[in-house]
Amino acid sequence: MKNVKHAQCTRCGRTVPAVPDLTACPCGGIFDIIYDYAYIKTALTKDVLARRQERSMWRCREFLPVEEDTVLPPLRVGWSPLYEAGELAKELGLRQLWVKDDGLNPTASLKDRASAMAVAKAREAGARVIACSSTGNAASSLAGNAAAAGLETYIFVPSRAPKGKVAQLMTFGATVVSVQGSYEDTFALSRAAISRWGWYNRNAAINPYLSEGKKTVSLEIMEQLGWVVPDYIAVSVGDGCTIAGVWKGLKDLYAVGFISRLPRLISAQAEGCCPLNRAVEAGEPWRPMEENTLADSIAVGVPRNADKALSAIRESGGLTVNVSDAEIMAAQKLLGRTCGVFGEPAGVAATAGVKKLAEQGKLPHDASVVSIVTGNGLKDVANAIAACGEPITIPGSMDRLLDAFAARGIAP
Ligand SMILES: *Cc1c(COP(=O)(O)O)cnc(C)c1O
Ligand SMILES: [Zn+2]
Repeated sequence: MKNVKHAQCTRCGRTVPAVPDLTACPCGGIFDIIYDYAYIKTALTKDVLARRQERSMWRCREFLPVEEDTVLPPLRVGWSPLYEAGELAKELGLRQLWVKDDGLNPTASLKDRASAMAVAKAREAGARVIACSSTGNAASSLAGNAAAAGLETYIFVPSRAPKGKVAQLMTFGATVVSVQGSYEDTFALSRAAISRWGWYNRNAAINPYLSEGKKTVSLEIMEQLGWVVPDYIAVSVGDGCTIAGVWKGLKDLYAVGFISRLPRLISAQAEGCCPLNRAVEAGEPWRPMEENTLADSIAVGVPRNADKALSAIRESGGLTVNVSDAEIMAAQKLLGRTCGVFGEPAGVAATAGVKKLAEQGKLPHDASVVSIVTGNGLKDVANAIAACGEPITIPGSMDRLLDAFAARGIAP
């Protein structure tokens, strides 16, 4: 890889070659991939990029840690739409708001960006089997992207994972183990199984390439905005791999001069499970928390990318915001009604956070904000119905329709 120098541990600073099956550092820290920005500058300009036909996460391969001859996995991941959300901005009293709908990825979450990267690296490593533990979306995205690439998957999910995600896993032909316990228990079992059978490891705690895949969301946002930097980018946070990736992508663009300043991050967590935000707010190391929220994808009591996530939030001068389940459900409805975007609970947590910060006066009125929707609402219809209500249910009769409308004050 001409564009990559090496990997460096984010905790102890040790540097090692960026081999495809790189795992965590012996010190326990996660590696970061270090690029040769001088080379990237010569290889890619904004004009060259603007003329590219490729509309996927692989659009800027110069920024990605894959060999030139690597056969990329077939599903079309990335280049999701960035919608200007004028109506929602007005309701929240913000100057400009955009919604990046990453629920439109092939398995319907932002995790596809990491899983496609994992599949590419597994192929480079010559692996035939990939495994991971996940709150749900990492699992379904890995199963789908691996199936398309002809690789076998072993997946560990906590038994609370919503049915939609489990249905995806079964459809993609994964071997699925539903663990009766917390995400922490699930993770521990997957780790033991992976070391026993030597599978390629797609766990966020271990694999440094996942946040490199996820960073493509930032590369896209900035290109879609014509390189005009927003004041804030809001992300929902569980393990912390996503927000770390978002920050990495921005720093890459800054390093090659594609953008001239960096946005501030907004880290949105659930009130019932916010170990990373609590650490930032208290200026202390993070401590484990209960996993007490309906937003299953961010119910992570022991975050696996804490180091990278905390430095991303702190370096960016970021804001933290913790949202209740009721606020998450309200945001689901608000985003649906004003934007036509259907997010799962964790998927809309960032938008719930933006709304809360705006209402608390913590965002200036002239602020421009991008809110990333990280997962699709169809994955968890039970919570969507709970948030947004049941339809009018009547027999097929005009009289009953008139009665029902009258009773609800609906005047077509
Ligand atoms: C995984 C996930 C997140 C959080 O990403 P982390 O890397 O765990 O912080 C947010 N939203 C959705 C829908 C997810 O699947
Ligand atoms: Zn180390």
